[in-house]
Amino acid sequence: MTHARSTWHGALPKGAADIMQRIVDNVLDLLLAAEGGALALQAGDGLEFAFCSGGYVSQVGSPLSASASLAGLSMAQVATLHTDDAMADPRMDRNMIRAVAMRSVICVPLRYRAQVLGVLVVGSSLPHAFAGEDVSILNGVAEFVASAVEAAIAMSRMVLLPPDETPAFRSSQSAKVYEYVANVADPKLATYIERENRVKKALAERDFSVVFQPVVDLRNQKLSGLEALARFHPGPYRPPNAWIDDAYKIGLGEDLELALVEAALQASQSADPGLLVGVNVSPTVALDQRFCEFVERLGMGRVVVELTEHQAVAGPDELLDALRRIRRCGARLALDDVGSGFSSLARIVQLAPEIIKLDLELVRGIDVDPIRRSLASALVTFANESGARVVAEGVEHEAELEVLRDIGVPFAQGYLIGRPGPLSVHLGHFDPLAEVIDR
Ligand code: C2E
Ligand code: CA
Ligand code: CA
Repeated sequence: MTHARSTWHGALPKGAADIMQRIVDNVLDLLLAAEGGALALQAGDGLEFAFCSGGYVSQVGSPLSASASLAGLSMAQVATLHTDDAMADPRMDRNMIRAVAMRSVICVPLRYRAQVLGVLVVGSSLPHAFAGEDVSILNGVAEFVASAVEAAIAMSRMVLLPPDETPAFRSSQSAKVYEYVANVADPKLATYIERENRVKKALAERDFSVVFQPVVDLRNQKLSGLEALARFHPGPYRPPNAWIDDAYKIGLGEDLELALVEAALQASQSADPGLLVGVNVSPTVALDQRFCEFVERLGMGRVVVELTEHQAVAGPDELLDALRRIRRCGARLALDDVGSGFSSLARIVQLAPEIIKLDLELVRGIDVDPIRRSLASALVTFANESGARVVAEGVEHEAELEVLRDIGVPFAQGYLIGRPGPLSVHLGHFDPLAEVIDR
């Protein structure tokens, strides 16, 4: 059997992931001064914080430089390294110091046979927190941790890397071996893997389409824009965001989002150039060069990028960077899901979007709930003062629409106005063009 390199690729079967998590959780009890533990595993050219506990938890998924971090050096030198004051230590990763307040840090390389798989990192917020004895204890557990990591990565390689989908493979002995390992690793894995294969196939074969939902101007009932929404053809039905989440789990999220943007912009070519077309993307996709290229080539200056905050896990600066990029390629920004648990007022002020989309959670029952009404009303006042336009989404009842009109919401979208459907249906049904939503 060939010995493939053990590198971390972001996913483990549940049983293995549980053990990795317990490894970092238990270091907090192992050393008296420990306030955080992390497994930084080799990923690509650098390291990635794959599992974290205590003070490192916010860093799960963060990359670490292979050359400019203590963990990277520990790995390169295959030596346990230790700092008593991270602030004054030039070997430390500056971003990491800013993100986590750890002053004392021990990094132990995880050696398995001839390879170094990663580093076990333990930190304390106090300087000079660890003694020589602590370093010895960590060195003592390193062999066990390295073996566990190797086993986890090996297991994930066996079960998460896609099995061959051909009929020949399915009837082969390898398929039996594969199934056995998968079921040991995680009984739910079979469904999981099937889903992943479905996403891969749908993306490769472009087995999806784009529908549009009308956004109307409430003052004159005219069509002012359309939101593009993805529909995946393979059954049973799953909502588009579930498909996209699955794609992210196997590293294809960005590719799928980009393919959907391209499809949406292509499908909207026949609409009046004055109509705005909203596309949903996560901030990382908005930063992608390919995204800008689609917007410039197919967007005709009418693209509205609907950004939502819940995918913005990569840090507060990312949304701002995404925003700059969006404006540079001539698109407008809509902040999506405003008024849901995911958005904050501070964020609206910071981003100054052209459009604020009130989440359907806020709109639902606005006619009977004074709290929802006053929150929506406050957002309208705020939008008017900052020059943004408000779109209420998810309007289902006439009574909701009445209240929205009363509090001065100018634009709305929802089943009451029009369900997501083919572009031609809306263009035939509505009378374009309302005033273009703009500052
Ligand atoms: P969203 O951006 O908040 O989109 C609005 C969702 O509410 C859509 O669900 C829409 O069909 C639904 N909706 C519209 N009017 C009403 C209404 O009156 N009542 C109710 N109950 N629902 C209404 P959908 O199409 O299932 O999309 C769900 C989410 O998936 C979207 O939420 C968006 O975050 C994501 N999504 C959809 N298409 C794409 C896409 O092409 N790319 C990306 N990245 N995300 C997408
Ligand atoms: Ca949206
Ligand atoms: Ca929403």
